[in-house]
Parts: sequence; structure tokens; C-alpha cells
Amino acid sequence: MKKKTISILGSTGSIGTQALDIIENNPDVYSAKVLSCSRRISELKEQIDKFNPEMVVVEREEDALALAKEYPHLQVEYGEKGLITAAEIDCDMVLNSLMGMRGMIPTYHGLKAGNDIAFANKETLVAGGEVIMKTVAETGAKLLPVDSEHSAIFQCLQGNPEKALRKIILTASGGPFRGYTLDQLENVTLEQALKHPKWTMGSKITIDSATLMNKGLEVIEAKWLFDVDIDQIQVVVHPQSIVHSAVEYHDGSVIAQMGKPDMRVPIAYAFTYPDRLENNYESLDFFTEAANLTFEKPDMEVFKNLKMAFEASRMGGSYPVTLNGSNEMLVQLFLEGKIRFIDIQNTIEKVLDQHQPKYNMELEGIVEADKAARQAALDLL
Ligand code: MN
Repeated sequence: MKKKTISILGSTGSIGTQALDIIENNPDVYSAKVLSCSRRISELKEQIDKFNPEMVVVEREEDALALAKEYPHLQVEYGEKGLITAAEIDCDMVLNSLMGMRGMIPTYHGLKAGNDIAFANKETLVAGGEVIMKTVAETGAKLLPVDSEHSAIFQCLQGNPEKALRKIILTASGGPFRGYTLDQLENVTLEQALKHPKWTMGSKITIDSATLMNKGLEVIEAKWLFDVDIDQIQVVVHPQSIVHSAVEYHDGSVIAQMGKPDMRVPIAYAFTYPDRLENNYESLDFFTEAANLTFEKPDMEVFKNLKMAFEASRMGGSYPVTLNGSNEMLVQLFLEGKIRFIDIQNTIEKVLDQHQPKYNMELEGIVEADKAARQAALDLL
């Protein structure tokens, strides 16, 4: 059997390294054709030595020049142009595990080139949903979810008629501050926010999970990916993170996907779909881990980000881009210790309040709106 070649955008991050773990353990099935990182050059070098890719992409030109000297056989690219080249390269699958808005443009170009894309980069659909899904429809390239909830929904949809779908039940762990009041949120620290109870992830998504913005972005991601109305999506807090999401059909049947929280499972499903890759990971033990599954309503009065994500999506146009752009800026400032946790949602609220929306945007317009949202957040602080 021919090996499946994979171009990985963001190979040193949390999803990227877990994807490489799958590739390493299935050397007859997969090979990594492209690896890429921003600035974690020493980690990238270890990956180059182990996986022998044809091409690598880094953020800065100076790093690219140094790498090209050290690895003369390797094609080395850099910057956004490099990421686009990596997305367009002749391969069997692109994995987009970039963080944030900068993942959108490479996804677009990869789809245009006819490449199937497994994407962990939810901001692509939050900001560019309309354009991206239009491109999917035009090219026939597949956009496969890596996000655990969306992979769960995608799995629950297999073999069922699309028109029978009544609603999507998107589960959320609730993050480290589940049950907190607004007053309690005033005083939480960066250290507390970085401790996710169930998943080990990159720092941006970990903060988004603590503010529930991650769930808000996922609601919008699901709306586009599964072509449903935003109000067909219900968020359910499920602290054990065993039920990864569910769908309800119009006969009242609910189908859920369950498993231990391990991102390698949804990554591998995106790689092998519609097949399943055999692994030797520990099975879910129903009598211990699944013995006490609980479900509760999210508190959208305390975690306003989730409520604002629903509202931004209902209003459409540049609202979701603005929600996402201001959030990216504010999370970065919070990670740098420059603002408080509560400032994230309070500032996004102000940015959205004063936002003058634009509609029917193309990619350039989306990029502009994203920049404007970041600036608006800074101005309002
Ligand atoms: Mn998720």
C-alpha cells in the first residue's frame, strides 16, 4: 500500500506533536512530507532528523537561511508564503494545526489546490466560514475536523440522512472555573487559568477553555462545518469529558461519541476517514471513568463569551471575525500578564457593542476586520 503523505502546518504544537506520534507509530501507513513551526527551531530539527520531510516552513527568514545551510537537501520556506506553499503541496492530506487567524489563508489555498485538510484551526471557520465552505463546495476537497467535539459530531453523522438531523449537542468540560460567580472570576490568576482539568493543550486554547470562548468558537465552527442553524446547537457542560458530543435526529434518537480524552483519536480519524486506525491505547473503563457522567447548563451570565459567540454568529457578517480577533489579542495580553482574566470578556463586550458591521466579505475584508478588532481591543483597554 502506498503511504499517505501528510503536510503538517504547526508540527511542534500540541496537535502537531500528537499527529507525529501517530505517524511514528504507523510508519507503513503515513509519512510527514512537510513540517513547520514558528520559532521552536530546536524541536523542529529533532523532528527533521526523525521524520525526514521534503520541506520545512518556519516563521522568520533568518531561521530559514540557517536551516537551509544545515540541511542542504531540504526545501526551506518561511512566513505566510511558506505556509501557503505547504498547504498547496502535492500530498494526500494537510493537517492545519496552526494557532489563530493566521491559519485561515493557508486553509483556503490548500482547498483551492484540491488538498484534503484535517483542521484543528477552528479560527479558520469562525472568521472565514462562508468563504471557506464555499471553497469546499466548489473544489470537492474535504475539510475534516480534528477538534474532538467536531470529530465526535462528524462520527455521529455517518450513515444517517442529513435532513433528519434535529440538533447538535456540543459538550464542554466547563474549564477550571466551572461554578464560579462573576465576583470570583475577578480574582483568578494566569496560573489557575492555565490548569485545564481534562485536556493538555496549547496555552491559547487553554485560556479559551477557561473563559468558555473556546466553546463559543466551536459553536460557530459547528454551524459552518455541519451546515446547521446556530440555534440548532446546544452547549452542555460535561465535566468528565467522556461524551465528546452528540447529535439528535428527528425521531428523537440521540447518538453520542465517547472515549477517553485523547486527541490522537480524532486526529487519526481525520487521517483515515472513513476508515479507523487500530491502536493500542487503553480502553475506556465504564465502571470507573464512565460510572458517573454528569451534564449541566453552561452559565452564560458569568461566562459571557459563550453568549456573545451565539449573538455574534446570529448577527453574522464581520461580528464573528471581530469576536475572534479581539479575543486573540486579549488572550495574548492576558498570557503576557498585562490584563486580568475578566478583562478578556469585558473588553470583547465593548468591542462588539461599538462594532460597525460589514457583510459579504471576501478574504481580504476578513483579514482587515480581524486587524481592526485587535486594534479596537487595545484602544478600549
Ligand atoms: Mn474542542
